[in-house]
Amino acid sequence: MELLTDIPVRQTIHSKIHDVDFTALEFGKYTSDHMLVCDYAEDEWLQPLIVPFANLSLNPATLALHYGQTVFEGMKAFRMDDGRINIFRMDKHYERFVRSLDRMCMAVPPKELFMEGLLKLVETDKAWVPTQTGASLYLRPFVYASEARFGVKVSDKYRFVIFTGPVPELYAKPIRVKVETRYIRAAKGGTGFAKCGGNYGGAFLPTQQARKQGYDQVLWTDGGENKFIEESGMMNVMFVINDTLITPPLSDSILDGVTRDSLLVLTKDLGYKTEERPVSVDELEIAFRENSITEAFGVGTAAVVAPIQTIQIREIDHHLPGYGPGNLFYIIKQKLEAIRLGKEEDVYGWNFVV
Ligand SMILES: *Cc1c(COP(=O)(O)O)cnc(C)c1O
Repeated sequence: MELLTDIPVRQTIHSKIHDVDFTALEFGKYTSDHMLVCDYAEDEWLQPLIVPFANLSLNPATLALHYGQTVFEGMKAFRMDDGRINIFRMDKHYERFVRSLDRMCMAVPPKELFMEGLLKLVETDKAWVPTQTGASLYLRPFVYASEARFGVKVSDKYRFVIFTGPVPELYAKPIRVKVETRYIRAAKGGTGFAKCGGNYGGAFLPTQQARKQGYDQVLWTDGGENKFIEESGMMNVMFVINDTLITPPLSDSILDGVTRDSLLVLTKDLGYKTEERPVSVDELEIAFRENSITEAFGVGTAAVVAPIQTIQIREIDHHLPGYGPGNLFYIIKQKLEAIRLGKEEDVYGWNFVV
C-alpha cells in the first residue's frame, strides 16, 4: 500500500527486543519499541508522529480519567508463510472504531490516518512480528479524551495512540461458563456495541464472582428479561445445535466482532448451515436435555475460538460432549488461520499485506 502522507518516525536508540524471549511470550506483557501519537484540537487532527514507546503524561483533570470517553480496537498482524506481514481486516476494525467513537461523542481519526498509521508502525517494528507459529503482533489503537477540565463535558481535545506488542498463540483449553442473570453487560440503547472502556470495568465484578464459584467466564444475558444469551465474557458466542451454527444477532448490546463475522462467512462457504437469531436460555436447557447441542464456543481476536466445556444454567452444570479435530469450531479456526498466513487464497480480501 502506498502511503499518502509520510508519517515521521523518531527511532528509539534503545531497542528492547533483545529483552524479550519470543518462545515464552505472555499475552499483554510486552510492548514493541515504537508508538504512534496524534492529537486532535480545534476541530482538526494534527501531525501524527511515530516515537519511541514511552509513558503518557496526563493532567489529573484529563477528562477520559473521569467520565470515560475512551475507545479502543484490538487487532493483529501476522507473519505469513512467505515472511511478509499481514494486518487482518483493517477496514472492518476501522468501521467499528468509528461506530464506537461516534457513540461516545468522540473525534474520529480519518481512515488514512488509521490505516497508514498502523502500516507505518508495523513496518517500523516489523522485527517484533513473531515468526513462531500461532504467535502474532497485537495492535492496540485507541483514542481518549485529553482535555484537562474537571466539569462534566464532552472533551474538545483527543489523543489517538497506537501501540503494539507480541503475543503468543492462546491455547484455549475448554472453559466453564455460567449463565449470568443477576448482572448485565449491556442494555438496549446502551453502549454494548462500542469498544469503550466502561463496558469492561463494569464486567469485572460479575466475572470475578463467577471465578470464585469455579467458572472461567459468564454467559451474558439480555438486559431486559435475562432470557436470551448475548456474549461469552468479552467474546461473541456461537453454538452448534442440530448441526447448525447458531449465534445471537447483532444489536446495540452485542459487539460486532470481526472474528464472529469472519467465522460466519467461512462456515457458510464451507456449506454448513448458519443462523443469526436469538438463543434463549430455555432453548439451551432443552438442547442439553435432548443432546442436540454439540458445541459451544466464544470467538474473538485474542484466541480466535475458546471452546466451552460446561455451561451452568439455573445452578445446574450442563456438559458439552468432548471435542476433537472433527468439530466445526476446529475446522473453521484452521481455515481462518490458513487464510491469514497465506496458506490458502484470501478470496475475501481480508489481508492487508504490509
Ligand atoms: C472485542 C470484543 C469482541 C470480539 O471482537 P473481535 O473483533 O472478534 O476481536 C466480542 N465481544 C466484546 C464485548 C468485545 O469487546
